[in-house]
Amino acid sequence: MTFGLAMRITKLKLHTTVILMLLSACWMSPATADTLDGSKARVLSDDEPLSIILMIGDGMGPEHVKLGRWVEVGPSNSLIMEQLPFSANVTTCSADSNVTDSSAAATAIATGVKINNSFVGIDPNGVVLETIVDVAQTFGKSTGVVTRTTIQHGTPAAFMTHVANRNSYQEITRQIIEEAGVEVLLGGGSRYFNTSEIDAMVDNGYSFVQDRDELLAVTSGKVLGLFSYDHMPFEQGRDFDESPSLSEMTAKSIEILSQDPEGFFLIVEGGKIDHAAHDHDRVDTALELIAFDKAVGTALEYISDHPNTVLIVTADHETAGLTILGHTLSDTLPSDTNEESANRQLRIERANNITVEWGTTYHTATDVPLYWKGDVFNESVETVDNTDIFTAMNTYFMSSPLPTPPPSLFIPVAVTFLAVIAVAIIYVRRTE
Ligand SMILES: [Zn+2]
Repeated sequence: MTFGLAMRITKLKLHTTVILMLLSACWMSPATADTLDGSKARVLSDDEPLSIILMIGDGMGPEHVKLGRWVEVGPSNSLIMEQLPFSANVTTCSADSNVTDSSAAATAIATGVKINNSFVGIDPNGVVLETIVDVAQTFGKSTGVVTRTTIQHGTPAAFMTHVANRNSYQEITRQIIEEAGVEVLLGGGSRYFNTSEIDAMVDNGYSFVQDRDELLAVTSGKVLGLFSYDHMPFEQGRDFDESPSLSEMTAKSIEILSQDPEGFFLIVEGGKIDHAAHDHDRVDTALELIAFDKAVGTALEYISDHPNTVLIVTADHETAGLTILGHTLSDTLPSDTNEESANRQLRIERANNITVEWGTTYHTATDVPLYWKGDVFNESVETVDNTDIFTAMNTYFMSSPLPTPPPSLFIPVAVTFLAVIAVAIIYVRRTE
């Protein structure tokens, strides 16, 4: 079977599945969902749709979290993500390696299927995989993809596109524009869009924004935010006025997507934790980790008032074999009462006072953390595989009511037809 034929057959199967799901909508119960252990999840409010915010710290192993903790709140306190009610470990191997790359790991999370490194959304047999974004769209939910790398990079791409080589950035861009149907797209990567492609997005109803002020001015609808030519800058060099923080990008995405009465799926990636760790830069690693944690805090604020939205925080893999060895930290911690620039300077000084060791320049097979809030995993589970994250999200959405099919045109067409016949008969009889 050719690769193209396999793609067509898989898409046909997906379409058939969607039609069957729509036909069976009236028999589906929205009340409960099976969790990983087969128990029933509680849907906490009948008034609100089911939504998921998934947050992925790229390269965020347990020691990266510890580094961020020591810098931001001190060794004996907890980051925001660590205060979520439940946690577990995640195994991360890909189909062809015990040490995964981002695109294979993100595909496992997005589709529930292990694939080979450097592929995106396509299994080892060439089959195009259905993603959690597809599932959300089947249920009529809005979707959003947010990152501080390019939006074409391995992790965000795995939620929207299907290519045999993760570096096929032009093809990934084409699929994002023509096929993905994602309503909120925020990140870097304008280099892969030409003017006519941007125009096509605007013609298709997207607000196109390029800096922080333009993003903050958007309040609804579809939005394409491309804030840099390539990846967005490291937090250490971010212009606070020009470049939106990951937390601001998260807040705006939630503000827009949560207007959908059917609910939403949002993936937010802290994409540059990985880049900083590849560089063996403990300051950038700490600052990126902390910026990601602030974005988790923003999502948590929304979740607190919306119990039908679950928050899942995890990583695709560990990067660079980080080990924290020791520190000479002062007691002065960053504080909400400080200017943003003063906090950044404090974080830089604190990170510089922590001694670390790096085991490799690439990724490792170390298990990564999983934190969550909401009825999406069994509360007592200790270790899950990255594919289980898709299963849990898919199960959660499967307890959503499907969108109401459009009303049948048969009755209005039939009534109009009979009325025309009746008028014709009356007219003919009068003229006889
Ligand atoms: Zn990496």
